[in-house]
Amino acid sequence: MHANLIGGAWTDGVRTYQNTNPSDTRDVIGDYAVASREQALEAVAAAHAAFPAWSLSTPQQRFDILDAVGNEIIARKAELGDLLAREEGKTLPEAIGEVGRAAAIFKFFAGEALRPGGELIPSVRPGVGIEITREPLGTIGIITPWNFPIAIPAWKIAPALAYGNCVVFKPAEVVPGSAWALADILHRAGLPAGVFNLVMGRGSDVGAVLLEDERIAGVSFTGSVGTGQRVAAACVPRGAKVQLEMGGKNPFVVLDDADLNVAVGAAINSGFFSTGQRCTASSRLIVTEGIHDRFVAAMVEKMKTLKVDDARKAGTDIGPVVDDRQLAQDLEYIGIGQQEGAKLAYGGEALEKNADGAPGYYLRPALFTETTPGMRINREEIFGPVVSVLRAKNYEEALALANDTPFGLASGIATTSLKHATHFKRHAQAGMVMVNLPTAGVDYHVPFGGRKSSSYGPREQGRYAAEFYTTVKTAYTQA
Ligand code: NAD
Repeated sequence: MHANLIGGAWTDGVRTYQNTNPSDTRDVIGDYAVASREQALEAVAAAHAAFPAWSLSTPQQRFDILDAVGNEIIARKAELGDLLAREEGKTLPEAIGEVGRAAAIFKFFAGEALRPGGELIPSVRPGVGIEITREPLGTIGIITPWNFPIAIPAWKIAPALAYGNCVVFKPAEVVPGSAWALADILHRAGLPAGVFNLVMGRGSDVGAVLLEDERIAGVSFTGSVGTGQRVAAACVPRGAKVQLEMGGKNPFVVLDDADLNVAVGAAINSGFFSTGQRCTASSRLIVTEGIHDRFVAAMVEKMKTLKVDDARKAGTDIGPVVDDRQLAQDLEYIGIGQQEGAKLAYGGEALEKNADGAPGYYLRPALFTETTPGMRINREEIFGPVVSVLRAKNYEEALALANDTPFGLASGIATTSLKHATHFKRHAQAGMVMVNLPTAGVDYHVPFGGRKSSSYGPREQGRYAAEFYTTVKTAYTQA
């Protein structure tokens, strides 16, 4: 049984639940403890009590622990990648890549703990010195989604600890295994009791405690727009800081002058890899007239070669969808697209069994063509391997279509025109812009986040993470 970590002690919950393998639903992975609201409150109390000492820990102490966590993740990369692929369904190479990214994040923020912060500014008054410093916020509530079960927790927990905060971590219900393994590594790395706490359970129950409790100084949340709005509604009025990373409906523009192989490669990667379950997935392909038919034909040809199978089997391109609920949602949108009059150019069928006969949540990736901008499949986040193609007359219309969405996370373009690439980088209404690259490929050491309803609050990752995890103090001294 995998318990919660509260105040430095592994603590049983009020009941247990199991996670299963979406590639083979007969495979039960483990038993996990569900915390009660009272236990979540105990975790908050433990973090709050640990904060004064931890906030004064030396940078060297924080470096040593975070660096050791990074090293341990690297040493266990294959095992952790296997667990991640088994419980979430992304392919083994993608899962191992995600684990490597988590390790790199811990090592990056280990270094950030040692970086000198602050500024000395001359005063307008004679003999007065001004120091601007950054201090930790306090206890941070960290609430994460299921689609990156180790990398997203890592990119929140590592900066929180590096800057001297304490953490109460509430992972997504369907992927407790990766979260628990990460908590175990953090615990063994020598963090003082209470500095890091893990509470597993339902969002509306255990998660809600983290939004409401006055001792939680900030909440870093990644998940859907609806839940993000709930986080903001609970935290902002009580003065808690929030950082929200939410959904996307990311466009990828393909211009007549694009290199067809580059365009198809980026669209396949961002649309379908990780089974399309990435907030940065390119779910709208906006293609200009001169290349449209060639591009669609090349996409369909490529899609026919994609192997949908067990996530941990060598040669699999696309693993299963994470669970039955997500599969039902994907199939519902495939039905909606057809009712709306879009043409299903390829895929869209659920496959009840994989090549070895194991039951799982498999879906052949779907491509819709002849779609219009107002269709729900072009406006709402589906969060599966379901992509639609929109025709555009020219670059200007393509840009307008790309920006015509309530979301603003990532936006991509395939073009060999420097003029269009430069214009697009300036005018795409998104937090991240990619030229001749998949929208879903991001580095771990630079800011991550979006605009409009995709994000709210300071950016995640890289040095910009300090904006959320610290608070600025301006001190005046008369010499
Ligand atoms: P979700 O909103 O259902 O859940 C996210 C987390 O919030 C889970 O841990 C859940 O238990 C918790 N939660 C749910 N209700 C809560 C409540 N009332 N109070 C507190 N916590 C609560 O999202 P999901 O289905 O796990 O993840 C998919 C979504 O995440 C997609 O919309 C996707 O775009 C988004 N996402 C965004 C990014 C990004 O960086 N922008 C990255 C990955 C995923």
